[in-house]
Amino acid sequence: MGQRDIALGIPSSAYIHIPFCKRRCFYCDFPVFVIGDRLQGENSGTIRHYIEMLCQEISISPVFGQPLETIFFGGGTPSLLSLEQLQRILTLLTQKFGISPQAEISMEADPGTFDLAYIQGLSTAGVNRISLGVQAFDADLLRYCGRSHNLDDIFTAVDSIHQVGIPEFSIDLISGLPHQTLHQWQQSLEKAIALGPTHISIYDLTVEPKTAFGRYYTPGKAPLPTEEMTVEMYRLAQQILTAAGYEHYEISNYAKPGHQCRHNRTYWENRPYYGFGMGAASFVQGKRFTRPRQTKEYYQWVQDGCVIDAKVTSPDEILLETLMLGLRLAEGVNLRDLASHFGENKVEEIKKCCQPFVEKGWVEIREGRLLLRAPDGFLFSNVILAKLFATLA
Ligand code: SF4
Repeated sequence: MGQRDIALGIPSSAYIHIPFCKRRCFYCDFPVFVIGDRLQGENSGTIRHYIEMLCQEISISPVFGQPLETIFFGGGTPSLLSLEQLQRILTLLTQKFGISPQAEISMEADPGTFDLAYIQGLSTAGVNRISLGVQAFDADLLRYCGRSHNLDDIFTAVDSIHQVGIPEFSIDLISGLPHQTLHQWQQSLEKAIALGPTHISIYDLTVEPKTAFGRYYTPGKAPLPTEEMTVEMYRLAQQILTAAGYEHYEISNYAKPGHQCRHNRTYWENRPYYGFGMGAASFVQGKRFTRPRQTKEYYQWVQDGCVIDAKVTSPDEILLETLMLGLRLAEGVNLRDLASHFGENKVEEIKKCCQPFVEKGWVEIREGRLLLRAPDGFLFSNVILAKLFATLA
């Protein structure tokens, strides 16, 4: 996809942000409201009010005319919505944009926030992909992270997902947690595989300054693992997951053949998408825009008519974004497409810049594509991208 297609492309994906959590995990700096362990759905006035504002935003959004192929409810903890609230949003999206019969409709869910009847309701409403925030299969690690669920909640949640037969089921895991050993990481991976998800996402912990972890811990120092150990964890994940039949299709994502996340591919392929809700990003008509990250400001923005105050992305920016996002995918970027949209000279510059990394075995040019070789190319992607940005910017 080239610069013109991107600038004028019609979005067929929508991201919906649901910013509520029972508690705040100790490593999290996302824009979320903590609503406690007892409230969810209609019982929470905060959620009710947010849904009103969110629906107002969707109602006044411009439409560019094609049914949605992917919808992603992310958070926060979208499984804190009631089925009625979810249905209301989906009905609105159907009326407004249309939803393709083959659409992928994903929802992030946390163990301990739903039961079997809820998953049945999700399935009836059209949700066909659940991304479960497991993070670790160790009671102590879950506690150290401040997660609101325990081990039993994980197994109950997975059991419900399997009983209902949700076709796409992903598990999220985090490596590099405080006190986490290589052995515990290996066990988390093996336990995740044993639960039969079609997709597994692994994230290396980032210690953000304004979090509890940021106050207590220093990256690379005990009880956090050393940098060498986090690299070893990444390599181990790659070995174990690919041996179990998962394709390492993106830096942090693995899928059984045919089960990649279609919604997230929209981002990596630098295609346009709608975004709705507090803090949600969108990329529509060549404009990238992030909604206010605080409730008061977001509500005011909706009441003021949801004005998208952003410039159209320039061709140079599009080239850098296409590289930054596309090189996350194992298949990399198509050099012929880049040449036709950005010129042969740019492609020659890119190839020249990458030559030292080709010699190191981190980058490969194969069948007209530029790609990072797993695992080292992915592990050192920051170094490669920094050089590309310095050369092309
Ligand atoms: S569940 Fe996710 S979004 Fe909510 S506090 Fe924890 S990490 Fe943050």
